[in-house]
Amino acid sequence: CGIVGYIGDEQATPILIEGLKKLEYRGYDSAGIAVINDGNINIKKAKGRISELEEALKKDNLYGSIGIGHTRWATHGEPSDINSHPHLSQSGIIAVVHNGIIENYLPLKKRLIEEGYTFKSETDTEVVANLLEYYYKGDIVEAVMKVLDRIEGSYALGVLSKDHPDMIVAARKDAPLIVGLGDGENFIASDVPAILRHTRKVYFLDDKEIAIIKKDSVKIIDAFGKDVQKSVFEVKWDV
Ligand code: GLU
Repeated sequence: CGIVGYIGDEQATPILIEGLKKLEYRGYDSAGIAVINDGNINIKKAKGRISELEEALKKDNLYGSIGIGHTRWATHGEPSDINSHPHLSQSGIIAVVHNGIIENYLPLKKRLIEEGYTFKSETDTEVVANLLEYYYKGDIVEAVMKVLDRIEGSYALGVLSKDHPDMIVAARKDAPLIVGLGDGENFIASDVPAILRHTRKVYFLDDKEIAIIKKDSVKIIDAFGKDVQKSVFEVKWDV
């Protein structure tokens, strides 16, 4: 299972697909990507090999310079197109990729259903998407902070918001996630090989840190919103 994300001037789709292929060694049963274009979040996902996702993209490509991608190792809900990531929040304004397990997703889901939310998948991840929408009042970073305060378990998360087409928000706890630092472009990934063709400069996120990633900047904050100064790690090895 793995996560990649790209923001910059290039087309995101081929970079995401290439990154996901580099993460295949981690194992997966389905794959998908979300790309923002013209203020809309477009998603393509499929059960099976990454080549099946590529076939679907050949028929109907996703264009745009910001996106997130995912390979899934199903824990909650069978491997299927619908349970594949990315997951959209109810009204389609927020997309989420997630590796890990949200231990308390059931009570959260119950509460969201009481609030009128509906769910399309059986995953724990869709709860994160809808909880983000529930807390979203115009500031996606604030919504992520509130959600991290509510969810328990393990996660590497990549979040896209329709209202913030210049930003990927990422966070992790007990699941790996790195930020790749490029020149006029930046990346997220579960592991170095996914982005090594593009950059050797990375931040290793620590538990409960949140990364706010734009084309020309990366800001890291802690669970309380305080700035964190990270040191850049220079990858010396090759894969
Ligand atoms: N728990 C999530 C799911 O089953 C994420 C699994 C993963 O790490 O790929 O959809």
